[in-house]
Amino acid sequence: MKIPNDKIEEIAHANDIIDIVSSYLQVKKRGKSFLALCPFHPDKNPSLHISQEKQVYHCFSCKASGNVFSFIQNYEKITFIDAAKQLAERAGIDLKFSDKSPDISNEVSKLFEINKVAMKFFQKNLLGYSGAEQEFVKHYLLQRRINDETISKFKIGYAPKNWDTLINYFSEEGIFKNEDLEKAGLIVKGENGFYDRFRGRLIFPVLNENDKVVAFGGRQLYEDDKLAKYINSPETKVYSKSKILYGLNFSKDKIRFYDYVILVEGYMDIISLAQHGIENTVASSGTALTEDQVRLISRYTKNIILLFDSDLAGIKAAKRGIELILEAGLDLGIVSLPDGEDPDSFIQKNGKAKFESFIQKKKSVINFIAGLYEKENMLSSVDDKTKFIKEIISYIGKIPDAIKRAFYIKEIARTYSLYESDLRSELDKTISQNKKAAFPKSSLEIPKIVFRNEKENKQIGSEEYELIDVFINGGEKAIEYLEKELEIDFIKDATVRKIIEYFLDEYINEGKIEVAKIMNEIDDEDIKILITKIAIEKHEVSQIPEKHQNSNNKFSDPTDVDYYLFAQDVIRKFRIRQFENIRNQIKKDPARFNEIIELGKKIDALHRRLII
Ligand SMILES: [Zn+2]
Repeated sequence: MKIPNDKIEEIAHANDIIDIVSSYLQVKKRGKSFLALCPFHPDKNPSLHISQEKQVYHCFSCKASGNVFSFIQNYEKITFIDAAKQLAERAGIDLKFSDKSPDISNEVSKLFEINKVAMKFFQKNLLGYSGAEQEFVKHYLLQRRINDETISKFKIGYAPKNWDTLINYFSEEGIFKNEDLEKAGLIVKGENGFYDRFRGRLIFPVLNENDKVVAFGGRQLYEDDKLAKYINSPETKVYSKSKILYGLNFSKDKIRFYDYVILVEGYMDIISLAQHGIENTVASSGTALTEDQVRLISRYTKNIILLFDSDLAGIKAAKRGIELILEAGLDLGIVSLPDGEDPDSFIQKNGKAKFESFIQKKKSVINFIAGLYEKENMLSSVDDKTKFIKEIISYIGKIPDAIKRAFYIKEIARTYSLYESDLRSELDKTISQNKKAAFPKSSLEIPKIVFRNEKENKQIGSEEYELIDVFINGGEKAIEYLEKELEIDFIKDATVRKIIEYFLDEYINEGKIEVAKIMNEIDDEDIKILITKIAIEKHEVSQIPEKHQNSNNKFSDPTDVDYYLFAQDVIRKFRIRQFENIRNQIKKDPARFNEIIELGKKIDALHRRLII
């Protein structure tokens, strides 16, 4: 079976390499680049470099290299076709395979499509029409101070009050059957047939990490609506509420950037905070925090701030979530808002700067719970104190890091004038009661595979190396120069020649060179390694000789200048090499003495013009 090239490209463009690698490893942003512990060799310090710009990865230790496809292939140890299928499904791209199990991938993409159409329908209902209902909803949004920009960013919509507006809309479109809409969770079958699930509600589409609409949340707007304040889509083939975090599609880059996430309770918290410029937030709306959600967060950061607008009862309800965060070895800080405030009201009143400084007053679980006990005056009697200490120790028992545990035990002993040894034996009891919790299987566990290619890069000439560099990193001017000046005979190595021919072909036909795409075309492992290495190295630090930098103002982009001059140098070096070869061949022939002298002069002239 063969997947057509345009499909391969579509799949590659729909799956960002940072997202893909992040779904297996914890990826950290450092400057322009992304780093992770390499899964292809036992790695202690992150040596896997991933370039978002070039969509490739390269391990500077074991030389594992490639694009999204090869990452999945090598990580999951599957074939290219299977990796492509997996990525297609993830992005909701229909591959229309005639082989087994086409229905699943078809149904998934069908549900995504239905949801997308429904989302647009809800959006149009809010802003596309005027009428009493629209006026009412707009007034409501105005009261909540949600501006148009936010409405469009979060794709907020409105489901009219009727029982069948959505059904009628879809039946006019005539593409999907009611049964399909039911599978998408948008309509419900009653005694008298189908009816819309969301009626007279403000609609918040729930998007997954790949920006696909997976579900909807509907907020009550009318007093005569006796159903719950929020109605959410049921579980479907594309929506499992325990695995989705609301807002993550908007916030993932910000979370990586700030290296912490603020966990809030609902749609409105996320939306209101974002409108005020706080964008590293997610909400586990509709469910208490789950293990899958904690794992999802840990792909982006190890630091969680839990924003609470509640009391001791609230924290009891969140107990399992807190335990899951601690068990995963993540750093947890807790912040509670002043009485009667929620994130929305707090930020409306105080603004971004005050919110941020408030967040930074986060407390550890222990201090936070102690604060709550104190506030409710529950630390006065011995019994209460004992209860408190036991509760605290049950949390500490969840922390996988023994040093951290010891640190907390010391702190409690000091604060409450208790013997450390008593606390320790209580802790040991908790841990042995829940051995599993003390040794959780880490979501960040790295499989120990040794990358198959262990030998060093093929010895290719430095000119070839520089040539590839210009093609990958140089701008239009530089590549155009090469296209004119480069003679294919300059290149001795057959594989490199193949690559350069491919580069030229791509540049002429596509107008650009995509490193990630080239990965699919070459089989030579050494060349792949070489290309990703050049792509990533140059992306991180400019290694162009200083003399080439900022020496000319002919072009707007300084890298263009650098690479244009660099390309000229590379060509000169190739010419020198070519002339030297000829000279070597004829140097024993006295009849060609003059030719030899001429070659020598040319070589000298070229040497003098070299900038390096
Ligand atoms: Zn490695």
